[in-house]
Amino acid sequence: MLLVLLGPPGSGKGSQSERLVDEFDMQQVSTGEMLRAEVRAGTDIGKQVASLMDEGKQAPDELMVRLLEQRLAKITDQTGIILDGFPRTLNQAQKLDEMLPRLGRRVDAAIEMQLPEAVSVGRITGRFACAKCGAGYHEQFKPTAKPGICDVCGSTEFTRRSDDSESVVNARLDAYRQQTEPVIPHYRTVGVLVPVDADRSFDAVYADIRAIVQGL
Ligand SMILES: [Zn+2]
Repeated sequence: MLLVLLGPPGSGKGSQSERLVDEFDMQQVSTGEMLRAEVRAGTDIGKQVASLMDEGKQAPDELMVRLLEQRLAKITDQTGIILDGFPRTLNQAQKLDEMLPRLGRRVDAAIEMQLPEAVSVGRITGRFACAKCGAGYHEQFKPTAKPGICDVCGSTEFTRRSDDSESVVNARLDAYRQQTEPVIPHYRTVGVLVPVDADRSFDAVYADIRAIVQGL
């Protein structure tokens, strides 16, 4: 089984994926995480991607597809896969359609996480994480129990992702509107699109996604 999660930044694709992974023993393949790993490792690809990400731009399709195919080819059993952050463009969706049959797979469902843009901006710009243990927080929705102190490890050092500032979020929203939204009619035509209202609590959204997965 292979799921695609589509939605603007802040729609909860990553955290919903994590919950699916826990419950259904699926494997989450996040292209954003794959790219950040390249950046951390300081590879040539990573250096190229780092400057793009700082500007809120995305890596070229060819690069993403190559990295993704390498990664998916390593999953040789029937483990369910969730693609998080991919495809981001119609071109990527078409390349994915070409690539998956080579791996004996197809897109079984494309879940569209629908979220108003103003909500998207508010959700993202408030995010921060513990610099020591990586625990994730949000100024409004998930603050630390004691101001300035990590609940998990007691650290007082926090970080923000460089692509979470408001100007960068707006650039990401523009990119989503222009590049990713055309993917939605593509999956509607293929007959695998399932819209979900993501402007609700995490648990309510998850209940819908869970039902979709169980129905596949
Ligand atoms: Zn911590």
